[in-house]
This record gives sequence, structure tokens and C-alpha cells, in this order.
Amino acid sequence: MDQRIRKIVIVGGGTAGWMAAAAFARAFGAGARSIRLVESEEIGRVGVGEATIPPINTFNSMLGIDENDFVRKTQGTFKLGIEFVNWTRLGHRYLHPFGEFGIDIEAVKFHQVWHKLHSRGEAADISEYCVPAVACRMNRFARTDPDPRSVLSRLKYAFHFDASLYAAYLRGYAEARGVQRHEGEIVEVQRRADGFIEAVKLASGERIEGELFIDCSGFRGLLIEQTLAAGYEDWSRWLPCDRAAAVQCASGGEFTPYTRATAHKAGWQWRIPLQHRTGNGYVFCSRYLSDDEAIATLLGNLDGQALMDPKILKFTGGMRRKAWIKNVVALGLASGFMEPLESTSIHLVQAGITRLLALFPDRDFNQREIDEYNKLMTSQYERIRDFIILHYHATERRDSPFWEYCGTMPIPETLAHKIELFRRRGRLFQHEYELFVDANWVAVLLGQNIVPESWDPLVDALDERALRQKLEQIRGAIRITVDGMPTHRAFIDRNCAAQVN
Ligand SMILES: Cc1cc2nc3c(=O)[nH]c(=O)nc-3n(C[C@H](O)[C@H](O)[C@H](O)COP(=O)(O)OP(=O)(O)OC[C@H]3O[C@@H](n4cnc5c(N)ncnc54)[C@H](O)[C@@H]3O)c2cc1C
Repeated sequence: MDQRIRKIVIVGGGTAGWMAAAAFARAFGAGARSIRLVESEEIGRVGVGEATIPPINTFNSMLGIDENDFVRKTQGTFKLGIEFVNWTRLGHRYLHPFGEFGIDIEAVKFHQVWHKLHSRGEAADISEYCVPAVACRMNRFARTDPDPRSVLSRLKYAFHFDASLYAAYLRGYAEARGVQRHEGEIVEVQRRADGFIEAVKLASGERIEGELFIDCSGFRGLLIEQTLAAGYEDWSRWLPCDRAAAVQCASGGEFTPYTRATAHKAGWQWRIPLQHRTGNGYVFCSRYLSDDEAIATLLGNLDGQALMDPKILKFTGGMRRKAWIKNVVALGLASGFMEPLESTSIHLVQAGITRLLALFPDRDFNQREIDEYNKLMTSQYERIRDFIILHYHATERRDSPFWEYCGTMPIPETLAHKIELFRRRGRLFQHEYELFVDANWVAVLLGQNIVPESWDPLVDALDERALRQKLEQIRGAIRITVDGMPTHRAFIDRNCAAQVN
């Protein structure tokens, strides 16, 4: 008997819903399956989520979209990393760039070699050996060069974009490939005797039947939580921020090729430069700060005039115990949320879609495949969680009760182990399913002043004079390459400037 799924219903038309619609339309082609998406303009979207990380390029390639067109239509800019201000201590700043530091030397990791020389005053700051870091500092941009011999092959990039334009862009893409959109509020979820979802009913009375339901309904989790009671793993003891005040403002001067994350008294503020405006938000902990105080700090730290009244968003850091139950797969905020410090939420939507396509079910919904999906997503969430906690915990700040709490809170054992291995001899080991690789951890560990006591003994087997020369060579080659790159603005003007309205 033909068990293939023919009717897919996506509940929600935020970033998650339209990413799923676009990906399914592309993967299955028009006609083979009906893909329907329900959204309610009255309920609306979360409306934030404007900074991404490099794997989004894989998603764009999968969709086959033209990057310049995409940047132009979303008022986008390029992102080479994140600048962290006041995290380690007040007045301190460091970069988490998207790319490698130097190159490994005879199978010894670059940061190990660098650490030995740097501890003797014989090497510059580690960021000088990283193309995107130097480019950020000089406000330059160029795309990755696929030739592995090129210095630019060591640079990765992502995007900043306008969240509502991104959803509109994906909607256009999906509808052009046969996805049907239904406007209206879902007021009833109908289930079969075995608990599987059969249909959703709109306020208009329209009934939409499906075989596979993708829950992209945002924080409420209309199907996964309100109907199937998945349960929530609450991580707020490690990720204490539970609110954000968000506001858009006029651009102030140059747009930087990086996001800025500035730590304040009880959280941090994002600054995301777009072509037509700047996105800002203060992510904070309501135990230590009121909404009014957060808004006042936010408005006092903008590049330009506020373009709207700030809005407050509430959340709890954590994830659904299961993102896939029966014939419902939750994506986006419906599946969990970790605050946007490392811009990982849109990536988690992408990861969910990719895994779902790899384990795409038949109507028999094999439980082993469902379990595998949940296991993979949980691992990915937990590894990202640890990386974000690191930023809060590894701080010298004790100037407010919030930072006192973060600096002294117990942390997950998996993270404690990782920090101690690094602290001893700079060692890092990659977990399966880990999004962030050695270079990401090195940037944040060193940036937050966790300096290894020693280095890998293999470094001592290498000729020191040759190492010094090699490091100088790398630094010089990076400097020459970045000098030859256009400014971020010039690159955009030449390739993907949005039309002025
Ligand atoms: C403060 C903050 C900052 C963020 N910053 C970033 C960032 O920089 N980078 C990043 O990657 N991510 C970020 N995120 C996360 C990102 O915004 C989300 O992951 C992304 O927008 C996906 O949201 P969503 O589509 O899951 O939910 P939503 O945008 O909330 O969409 C939910 C959809 O469901 C529909 N819906 C709900 N109930 C019903 C119903 N009953 N009937 C019909 N339709 C319904 C709504 O109409 C809407 O279309 C941030 C999130 C927050 C809260």
C-alpha cells in the first residue's frame, strides 16, 4: 500500500513556517504533495530575529536563491562575526569572528602554537591571525573564496536582514512553487482516536486536513504543547534572561559587518545594522531589572532616532522535551528558545528542517525515526546551550547582582569539563552534532579571559624560529588581503543595494 505522505500542513507563517514551506516546496517539487500554510495576521509574528550564522548559506544554496537578490530584497547586510563589549569586564571588547584562526601547523592546532609564542610576547593578539576579525576591525567585506589556497577561503559570513522582509521573501518563493496560504486563526485542533492530529479548524469554519503537521505557531506551541503536551525543559537557571525590549532606530553612519552585543547591568543589548535601519534590543533578566529600566537603557544607547515604541517580549530559555510527537514536528519558537546571543534560533529551524527531510516519514510514522530526530535535536540544543552559558559564566564582572549570579552559578557538567580541558592545556574536542567548532570556542574562551596554563606538548617538538616566521607570514598575508577588500558599504553598493523607497 502506498504510505507516502501527501498532505502537509504548516501551522504558522513566521520565519519558521515560511522557511519550512520554502524548503518542502523545493525538496518535493510542485504537485507531488499538497503543502498548506495557515497564519493569522491578527495574531502576528514575533517580528525579531535578524542576525544569522554562516550555515544559512547552505540553506540558501539548497533553495537555489540568488544571494544578491536575497540581500537586496531583505535590506540585508553581511555579518562576519559578533563584537562583545563589556562581557569579560567593563571597558573590554573582543570579537567572535566567523572563520579560522591561522592554520594548523604539522597537525598541531594553531591556537596551541600561538599560545606558546604569545605567552612569551612573541605573537600578536590572536584576532590578527583571522581574516574576518581583521576585516571587521577595518569595516571591510568580501565573499569566501572556494580555492583552499586563498586567504579568503578562511572567511565565513552570514547575514543581517529585516525579519518581516525575510518572511515575505520566503513566502514569495514558496507560493511560486505551489504552497497554498490560508489566512485565519486556528480555533480548534481535531484528533483521531489514536491521538494523531487530523485537521485544524479556522474561525471562518474552514477545516484543513493533513497527514503531517509542522507546528510553527511560535512560543504558544499550539499543536506540540497545547494539544500534545510535550513538556518543556526549563534552562533559566543557566540562561537567566527572560525578556527583551526591542526597538528599531535610524541608521547611524557606516553599517558594520558584524553584530554588536553590549553587556549592561542585567543583560545585554544587540545592535544589528541593516541597509535601511538598525535593529536593537535589550535582553534582560526580570529578576534584576524592570521593563521600564530596560527600555530607558535601550533608548539611551541607540545609533539614531527610535522609529517605533519599544516592545517587550517574554520567554523562558529551554526546549520542548520532544519536538516530534506522533504526526507533529515543531520548528522555531514552538520547539524551544535560547536567547539570541549567538544568533542560533534561525539556524535551529534550518537544522530541524534538514533533519526532518533526512528522516522524512511515511504515514506509518516509524517510532525509531521519530526518536532519532528528537535525539539529534536535543544534542544540538544542549551543545548550543553550553556555548551561550559560557559567555555569562566566564566573566570577571561582579558589579551588579545579575553578574554576581552569572559568575558564580553552577554550570552544566558538560560545559565545566570543556572549560577545564581548555584551561589546563588549551585542549578542545568536538562533540558529535556540535554546531560551534574549535575556532568559535577559542574566540569566546580567550575573549572571556580563560587562558590555558600551558600548551599541547607537541608544540615543543616544532622549531620555534620557523614558527615565529610562519605566524608573521600568516599575519602579513591577512593584512594584505584585507587591505585589498572593499568597505562593507562599497561591496553592498556594488552588488546588492536595496532600492530606496
Ligand atoms: C528577543 C528575540 C530576539 C531574537 N533574535 C534572533 C536573532 O538575532 N537570530 C535568530 O536566529 N533568531 C532570533 N530570534 C528567534 C527568531 O525570532 C525566531 O526563531 C524566528 O523568528 C522564528 O519564529 P517563529 O516563526 O517560530 O514564530 P513567530 O514569528 O511567532 O510566528 C508564529 C506564527 O504562528 C501563527 N499562529 C500562532 N497561533 C496561531 C493560530 N491559532 N492560528 C493561526 N496562526 C497562528 C502566527 O500568526 C505567526 O504567523 C529572536 C527571538 C527573540 C524573542
